[in-house]
This record gives sequence, C-alpha cells and structure tokens, in this order.
Amino acid sequence: MRFVSTRGQAPAVGLSAAIAAGLAPDGGLYVPQTLPEMPSLQAGRELAQTAQALLAPWFAGDPLAAALPAICDAAFDFPAPLQALATPHDWLLELFHGPTAAFKDFGARFLAQCLARLPRPDDRPLTIVVATSGDTGAAVAAAFHGLPGLRVVVLYPDGRVSPRQAHQLGCLGGNIQAFKVAGSFDDCQAMAKQALADTALQAQCPLSSANSISLGRLLPQMAYYAHAALSHHAATGRPLNLVVPTGNLGNAMAAVLARGLGVPLAQIVLATNANHVLPDFFAGGDYHPGPGVATLANAMDVGAPSNFERLQWFYHGDAAALRAGFVARSVDDAQIRALISQRHQQYGEVVCPHTACGLAVLQQLRSEGVAAPGQDWAVAATAHPAKFEGVVEPLIGQALAVPPALAALLQRPAHAEPLAASYPALRARLLA
Ligand SMILES: *Cc1c(COP(=O)(O)O)cnc(C)c1O
Repeated sequence: MRFVSTRGQAPAVGLSAAIAAGLAPDGGLYVPQTLPEMPSLQAGRELAQTAQALLAPWFAGDPLAAALPAICDAAFDFPAPLQALATPHDWLLELFHGPTAAFKDFGARFLAQCLARLPRPDDRPLTIVVATSGDTGAAVAAAFHGLPGLRVVVLYPDGRVSPRQAHQLGCLGGNIQAFKVAGSFDDCQAMAKQALADTALQAQCPLSSANSISLGRLLPQMAYYAHAALSHHAATGRPLNLVVPTGNLGNAMAAVLARGLGVPLAQIVLATNANHVLPDFFAGGDYHPGPGVATLANAMDVGAPSNFERLQWFYHGDAAALRAGFVARSVDDAQIRALISQRHQQYGEVVCPHTACGLAVLQQLRSEGVAAPGQDWAVAATAHPAKFEGVVEPLIGQALAVPPALAALLQRPAHAEPLAASYPALRARLLA
C-alpha cells in the first residue's frame, strides 16, 4: 500500500517511509492512496490478533510486514476492556491499562516497535525529540525505554507539569533523557521544531519526532475500537456508538478509519473541553484554529487540531458531508467538575477530566434523546483518574489507588536536567 500527503504535493511512499518521516515533505499528513478492503475479523480474539488482522492490509508489501505480528504482540500486551456503566446501555472503553495509564501508550508503543525495526543508514542512534505538556512525553518515553538504536530527549516546562507527570518523565534513565526547561510548553515545542529543522545538526545527530500525526501512532489506534465493537456486536447483535474525548483528533480519526473499513461502529461523537474550534465548525461555522486555552482536561488543550486535515481528506474536502457526519460538543471546566462529582456521588464511578468531557456529552445526548434509549454507547476513557489526582481527588473527597504499572514507574528515582529555554542550549546537549 502507498501513502500520499493530504496536501497532494509529495511523492507517494511506502508505509515504512511514511512512519520514518512523520510529516510529509509538503507539510501535509500521510494518508493511504485508497482505503484497504476490510479484512475478515472475528470477535473473541486477543486484542493483538485483532490489531494484526486489521493492520495487515496497511503493511502489505512493506519491509515491516513480516514483523507485524511481533510488533502487535509487543505493543498490544495490555487490554482495552469495555466496562458497563451504572446507566443502562452506557459503557466506558478503558484505554488506560498501559504503562503510563493513558491511551497514548498504544500508539507510542506501536510506533517505537516500528522505528526499532526500520533499517538505519549507519549505527548512530536515532534521537526522538519530544516536547510535552505531560501525557505524550510520558507515553513516548516509556514506549522507547530500552530499545536499541533509539534515544529519546524529552523537553517539558519546569514546574508546569504535575509532580507525578514530571516523575514519569525523569524516572526511566538509560536511553531516555528528561530536560526540565525554564520556560513554557510553547518554548519546548519551538526548541524541538528548531532541532528537527536543523539540517546541519541532523548530519551529526539523526533526529525524528513521535507526535500524534505519525501514521505509526494513528493506525494502531483503530485496533481497540475494532476489538470492542466486534465483541459487542457478537454479544448483542447491536453496533456500538462512540463518544471520543478529542484534542488533536488522533484518537477520533482512528475510530473514523475503523468505521470506514467496515467495523460495526455507528455514530462517532467528538467531545472537546473549552477549546471549541471543532464544535464551532460542526455547528456550521468556519474552521478557525487558534492558540489553545488551558483547562482541567489539559491533554486536550488544543486550538488547532492537527488531524483535522485527515478528517477533511476522508470526506474528500466536502465540508457539508463532513458536518453532516458528526456531532461535536464542548464541555467547560465547571461541567467537568460537576460531572466528576455527580458520577461519583450517584454511582460511585470515577473518571479522569478528559473522560469526563466525553461522559458529560453522552449524558447530554441521552437527555435530549439524540442518543436513543435502546442504543449502546461507549465513551473512550482516555486516561486513568489517578493520573489527574490533583483535579479528581478534591472533587470526590478521597484518595485514588494508582494502577500497578504506573505505581511501578513512580517507585523509581527520577532525575531531570535543567535546561535554558533557548535553542543553542538544546543543540549543545544533543551534540554532547
Ligand atoms: C492526548 C489525549 C487526549 C486527546 O487525544 P487526541 O488524539 O489528541 O484527540 C484525550 N485524553 C487524554 C488523556 C490524552 O492524553
């Protein structure tokens, strides 16, 4: 299978090349030239087997094809269960059972396993530069930890990630280096971008990124939707409807692709936090990307969702068809707080602030009858609530147990090097 850019100005490439590049050379996002046929998928298999069957057509003819079973076994070695909620016909699709307790573990681990197997021109390590406001960097660092030939440099704004997040970034050691930057997340991102664009630096120190536009992160995310929808359909005869908490639209785009292949998913609803560029567009307004605003669901603080170009491509640039295909709603911080307290008080259920956006939207759709009583709906639970204890614990009035994989990480000693918020400082460290 060949992949082209959403902007149409880059040559078609194979999957390995698209994964190695991340962004297409014309600044667009890689998409398949044509959607593959739906492979025959059976319910009742392991998640890794579903992933392998679903992804095989995308890897056909690529040098990585032979390694796909091993890549899937390594990346999908924790479950993504559908858990029934107290309210009838409502479920959570729990995507937080990985090492850093967020759904990004799936994509980051799959990408790491792919990059570790790609041939390299020489024996110098490939350095992955990640700027993070918390979740992404932790998932990427944990996914690449210990993989030969790969090194990760994580930049995070000192004092602006939660203590638990900072710990997760600094506790791995080995091929993972964490830098606490004396600046903002935007400073970190600007420094990372400058490094990735510095060809003189790259001649000495080959670099790559691991952000959510990479096909190596996007494609594997189809697997948990397919796995859940197939098991649900086999058990009930009914398709599953989804609400996806959305920031850069990577997770939701994977659901759209899976449905496009023929996975039994009905509606896909987008839930954002107070960043409402998508709800505005889907309500009929223009698409107005801008800077993100800070919210309690901080991994979704995105003002310019990077996968929007892929969604437009999927609808052939037809804005009317795209608008007709989705409902998108925004949930503000007051609603996030209210939802977390209410679900806990009424049902003893505890969700993270991102999942709360999704569940708040589902409750609205239920009360308006848009989600009909007999329909089955699942909210993608994107992170474990214990990752956001500073928000969740005061609202529910009790401490949360940390999941074992995350607890194991938090047990390790952590170390981050201070770094000035300047590109020359980063450059010098990369070459050291
Ligand atoms: C990254 C993230 C999101 C948003 O996912 P996108 O793919 O960017 O839309 C939602 N919730 C959590 C916990 C995240 O880490």
